[in-house]
Amino acid sequence: MLLDPFKRPLEPARQMVGCVYGRPHGQHVDLLWLTSQKHMEIKSCFMKTSNCLKLLLGALLLTGCVASHQSAGPTAQTQTQTRETQATITPSQALTLLKAGNERFVSGQMLHRDLRQEVQRTSSGQYPFAVVVSCLDSRVPVELVFDQGLGDLFNARVAGNVVNEDILGSLEFATKVSGSKLIVVLGHTSCGAIKGACDDVQLGHLTALLARIKPAVDSVQTEPGETRSSKNSAFVEKVAEANVHHALKTIRTQSLILNEMIEKGQVGLVGGNYDLGTGKVTFFSE
Ligand SMILES: [Zn+2]
Repeated sequence: MLLDPFKRPLEPARQMVGCVYGRPHGQHVDLLWLTSQKHMEIKSCFMKTSNCLKLLLGALLLTGCVASHQSAGPTAQTQTQTRETQATITPSQALTLLKAGNERFVSGQMLHRDLRQEVQRTSSGQYPFAVVVSCLDSRVPVELVFDQGLGDLFNARVAGNVVNEDILGSLEFATKVSGSKLIVVLGHTSCGAIKGACDDVQLGHLTALLARIKPAVDSVQTEPGETRSSKNSAFVEKVAEANVHHALKTIRTQSLILNEMIEKGQVGLVGGNYDLGTGKVTFFSE
């Protein structure tokens, strides 16, 4: 089995250009140097394994391979969306792409991306295949949790992933104007905005924002005597899910443009929940 300096298994097909990997071989280490995508050299390194691994780690840092995403190193040639690729993706395929990306994120098998290269490839246009409405929370950056690159996703972030007129306008732009095929409303566990709404927090402009979550708070039933505040985590999570469903309903009922595209099957609409503890996104069935 081929291993990198962190002793993770590497698949030969998943090559990173210009990187060095080591394979412990008795007291020595075999070096694998990828000089191009199709050309590789293997040289034996006549050092003690420990010293050689230090050398390899230095080489990895120099080549920038450790500085990017935590990746086991699949291809450096990730695809950037084009007008043609965006046009061929269906709403259900867009959902499949997001599910696959989240599986890579959860399993630590994120694609290696040359972000500078992606900057260049997307500089003349953008053709994102999906648009995600998600929370402001710093722990839920959608490009990372769905393992997507520059130009792949539109992302509207607002505390509590609420939908107002500005968000509806953004969604209409993303789909009707820019061709995205899927709208996702993504809530998450332990959401501070949801907790604030449950506790009826009043603070500056936050008061008006949290008022948009109130319908979800009011819709969740509790047992007699059960606490209806952020102290009841089960209640908070039910409100978070109800809040996503409320946002989905708002999208359908408040935007004729979006509702028509959804009705015609041109655009998909789905809700989901991100688990802060596991990194996993669970999509709702509706
Ligand atoms: Zn949140």
